[in-house]
Formats: sequence, structure tokens, C-alpha cells
Amino acid sequence: MGSLKIENIVKSFGHVDVLKGIDLEVEDGEFVIFVGPSGCGKSTLLRIIAGLEDATAGEILIDGKKVNNTPPAKRGIAMVFQTYALYPHLSVRDNMGLGLKQAGKPADEIKERTKVASSMLSLDDYLERRPSELSGGQRQRVAIGRAIVREPKLFLFDEPLSNLDAALRVNTRLEIARLHRQLKATMIYVTHDQVEAMTLADKIVVLNKGKIEQVGSPMELYNAPQTVFVAGFIGSPQ
Ligand code: ADP
Ligand code: MG
Repeated sequence: MGSLKIENIVKSFGHVDVLKGIDLEVEDGEFVIFVGPSGCGKSTLLRIIAGLEDATAGEILIDGKKVNNTPPAKRGIAMVFQTYALYPHLSVRDNMGLGLKQAGKPADEIKERTKVASSMLSLDDYLERRPSELSGGQRQRVAIGRAIVREPKLFLFDEPLSNLDAALRVNTRLEIARLHRQLKATMIYVTHDQVEAMTLADKIVVLNKGKIEQVGSPMELYNAPQTVFVAGFIGSPQ
């Protein structure tokens, strides 16, 4: 389970209206991409879904249940950021397991879940290392592993590959696609990279200035952009 419903979400910072009424449904198991220019509100929307930010108005429902007042740790969500935010003094194993430890999970369960996640991400041989002893790509995999061990219903990725070089971006993108198939989890993924959007998404949501311009499959957006903005963004001639 991991469906999401966003109903008329509005967000203002002071006098600035950053999100101007967002409505969206995400089905269980879907891979949904948010694209749009810098500053259009993508991260703010993800943070509201995660519970890291309150909406000014509107509702967030996960599996049909309103979660506006549910704290982030209780929403069944895990978020992966552009910066990996790993603890430098902890091993890979402890970085991955920390959230579970804080949630009071028993040590043997933490060990087992860490083992499963590290093998999915080819990190088995790196569990005792510190983040400083890893490459950028490996660090980002640890951050993804830290999300996987929590067994969330919903993964949120905020431009997870933008700090990686081109070759690693391709590898990690393919890895995320494989994880999506393997975990059958719902994933929402922010990027400003058209190639990532077109190759990963079941559904693309094009945002512009705090509003949804269009929602559709990559082919629908490519073949039938409904606005000049979408056409320009997706790169289709019009
Ligand atoms: P994106 O992720 O699409 O680049 P953001 O969601 O980060 O955009 O930001 C959308 C707009 O909201 C930007 O204009 C940004 O400056 C503003 N904003 C984001 N967070 C805050 C905040 N905490 N206080 C004030 N303005 C903010
Ligand atoms: Mg952002």
C-alpha cells in the first residue's frame, strides 16, 4: 500500500504564494516524476508530503487517510535528498540503521534489514567504512539504503542524482529503476533532467510557478503537450 492524494494544496511564505492549489493522485506502486524550473515549488511540495513543512491549506491523504497532523516519522515515508546528509563519524552500517535504532527496533531486525538493503545496493563490502572512505555514488547509495531499511510505503527523492557526475548519474538512475521494480513501492522523484523524467516515470507532473501545467505519461507529454511551456520543457517541437 502506498497511494497518495493531494487535494488543493496551497503554500505561502509570507506574501509569496509558492503553491497555488495542487491536486494530484498517485496510485500504489506508481513512479511519478515532478519536473519544472528552479523555484517552481517542487521541493516545497515534497516537504509538505513528507510532513517537514505544513501546508497553508489543503489536504494530504496516504492510503485514504488524512495525514496533515501526522508527524513525518509516522507517515510511512522515506526521503532521499540531493545532499546525502550522512553522519561522518558513523559507519555505513550505523548510518543505515540509525533511524531504526531511534525507532526502537531490536538489534537483530536492524542487522537483517541492513543486510537486505546493502545487498540490493552492492554495499555489502562497505558496511564498516565511514562515509569519507566512499565515492559520491556510494554515499548516495547509502542514503538510498537508509530509506530502504525503513520499508516505507512511499519514497520521495529530491534531485538525488544532481551531485553525481554524468556516468554515475546513469548508473544510479538504472539502479533506482531496478529498485522500483523490486520493491514495488510508490516513488515520487523530483528532477529537472528531462532524460531522467522520460526514462523513469510512469507519470510526469509538470509544475510551473506553483501550479500543475500537465500530468501524463512520458509519451502523452511528448506527443500531446497541452501548453507551450510543456512543449518547451519536454523538448517536443511545437
Ligand atoms: P524548487 O524545488 O522547484 O526549485 P522550492 O520548492 O525550493 O522550488 O521553492 C519554491 C519557492 O519558494 C522559491 O521561490 C523559494 O525561494 C521559496 N521558498 C522555499 N522555501 C522557503 C522558505 N522556507 N521561506 C521562504 N521562501 C521559501
Ligand atoms: Mg528543489
